[in-house]
Amino acid sequence: MSEDFYDALGVSRDASEDEIKQAYRKKAAEYHPDVSDAEDAEEKFKQVKKAKEVLTDDEKRQAYDRLGHDRFTEAEKRGGFDQGAGGMGGAGGFGGGMGGGMGGGMGGINDIFEQFFGGGQGQGQRQRGPQPGRDLRTRVSLDLEEVYEGVEKQVTVTRPEHCETCEGHGHPPDADSETCSECNGQGRVTTVQQTPLGRVQQTQTCPQCEGEGELYDETCSDCGGRGVVQEEAKLTVEIPAGIRDGQQVRLGGEGAPGEPGAPKGDLLIEVRVAEHDRFERDGDDLVHRLPISFPQAVFGDTIELDLLGGKTELEIPEGTQSGETFRLRGKGMPRLRRGGHGDCYVQVQVVTPEELNDEQRDALEAFAEAGGEEVEVKKGFWKKLKNSL
Ligand SMILES: [Zn+2]
Ligand SMILES: [Zn+2]
Repeated sequence: MSEDFYDALGVSRDASEDEIKQAYRKKAAEYHPDVSDAEDAEEKFKQVKKAKEVLTDDEKRQAYDRLGHDRFTEAEKRGGFDQGAGGMGGAGGFGGGMGGGMGGGMGGINDIFEQFFGGGQGQGQRQRGPQPGRDLRTRVSLDLEEVYEGVEKQVTVTRPEHCETCEGHGHPPDADSETCSECNGQGRVTTVQQTPLGRVQQTQTCPQCEGEGELYDETCSDCGGRGVVQEEAKLTVEIPAGIRDGQQVRLGGEGAPGEPGAPKGDLLIEVRVAEHDRFERDGDDLVHRLPISFPQAVFGDTIELDLLGGKTELEIPEGTQSGETFRLRGKGMPRLRRGGHGDCYVQVQVVTPEELNDEQRDALEAFAEAGGEEVEVKKGFWKKLKNSL
């Protein structure tokens, strides 16, 4: 897991930025969880993404080269946690998610390095911008037919929205105010922390005025001063064909609102695919259990199958055994974002008749005798016949 970033991307330590980006594109394409079936694909994908993120940023790369992998990772972790405790969008983390975009949030690591490299000696101090909104999550249920075709679904999500009455400020527009004493109207306060990397200067939203710079004598009655209200939103989401149970689709900018001036979070929609009564899914392949009669198994037959993609014919050869499987190439599920389809495996099951009329009984008795079997047509016969199959 803690593989060196250069090794992860397969580049030399003096690789140029272009070489790194190129290597990243190759690896990302290889490990993208939508594409790769490898068990650790998601982990690998995150790793190369992180490697590229660090190595294509001059400052971070310098720090990485200087500190080495473990100390760098440690420092970044601490930075991440410190930030997390601070403001609202805390859960920055290595988002990514499975379903959707390449643009996962990397809040924590950016922050600590901006503080570390930008902070301190009075020159070019960079401020931490307003925090973007949280990602929200919901689920949507599909049946296999919908997954086969790809489908648009409506989802309803209850999410915080900026209060329209006060435009998210938490007070009526005409409320009286005075300058916040905590931040002198700046909306931000700066604190200094000791970390393993030395002194880190941290600028954060003023806790007293919550970034407004002003304190107001009235709060908005619609949102109780919080600036947000819970609203129910109905959204349409495009579910790509071939998606699997448990995967997510990301709707950018449909999450919770951020601090004033910052972007919204995303909405992550987890897909649940219902079990099908005729098809079992195995990755992009389908398994279909097909009952056939004893004569069909003996003589062979052409059977019309009603598959998800339409009707198709299956040739059952003479002398087919129960449990035998036939592969129909390209008749499985669509491959997510890759084009093409998996296969459909049809497993035949020879059905033993449970009730026979007299004619059938005589014919079967004759059949058994013709094959040299001694038959006493009593209760034990059917058991014996089954055992001999
Ligand atoms: Zn309000
Ligand atoms: Zn303040």
